[in-house]
Amino acid sequence: MTAVPDTSGLAGALSGASAILFDLDGVLTPTAVVHEHAWQQLFDGFLASVPDAAPYRESDYFDHIDGKPRFDGVRDFLASRGIVLPEGPADDDPAHDTVHGLGNRKNKVFNDIVEAGGVQPYEGSVRFVDAALARGLKLAVVSSSRNSPAVLKAAGLSDYFPVVVDGVVAVTEGLPGKPSPATYEYAARLLGLPSEECVVVEDAVSGVQAGSAGNFLSVIGVDRGAGRQTLLDAGATVVVNDLAELL
Ligand SMILES: [Mg+2]
Repeated sequence: MTAVPDTSGLAGALSGASAILFDLDGVLTPTAVVHEHAWQQLFDGFLASVPDAAPYRESDYFDHIDGKPRFDGVRDFLASRGIVLPEGPADDDPAHDTVHGLGNRKNKVFNDIVEAGGVQPYEGSVRFVDAALARGLKLAVVSSSRNSPAVLKAAGLSDYFPVVVDGVVAVTEGLPGKPSPATYEYAARLLGLPSEECVVVEDAVSGVQAGSAGNFLSVIGVDRGAGRQTLLDAGATVVVNDLAELL
């Protein structure tokens, strides 16, 4: 990483860079909102069949689901309504009213929303990506999500990113997830570049830590709620609210 933060626009942020490695969820697409909607749809449907159950509220997402592994979210939300369901097998049919069935149903709802074109990329991010391409930079996506190709397709971004290192690739290649820099380093290798020539763009603390832990040129933090100082403390070289600020 460079020691000197440079905030003088795109040229400064990308000085010496040959490639940009983008996180997906929260950097290119507001996919966290799609996850919220999918949970709402799941439990609106499920609770309709449960007599006297209090309806799903937006606050339930933050109180019981956000940030947890999917099946823990199902279990903890159900517990908030005093509902206990059988666990079911991990690959249980999404039609089954079990913890794993409901979790798999949520994933299906998420994918249905995505495939129906329900993902609009951040406008400022698209402009930044266009500008980077115009400068001849190589681009890659590095995401923990297993749904990355579907999300990129729904957002109309597939053609921008010939290299996608997502949750499926990480498992296949045996790469540890963020905050390890391994998935970002793997993306740089796939682009045929040393890490020192790559810029990492991240919105999550764990992702900024991943970029900071690797030997990358710089880490651009995008503050979607994590907090500017938090991202700087995690190792971001520069923090913006929107990537268009660097244009
Ligand atoms: Mg993210």
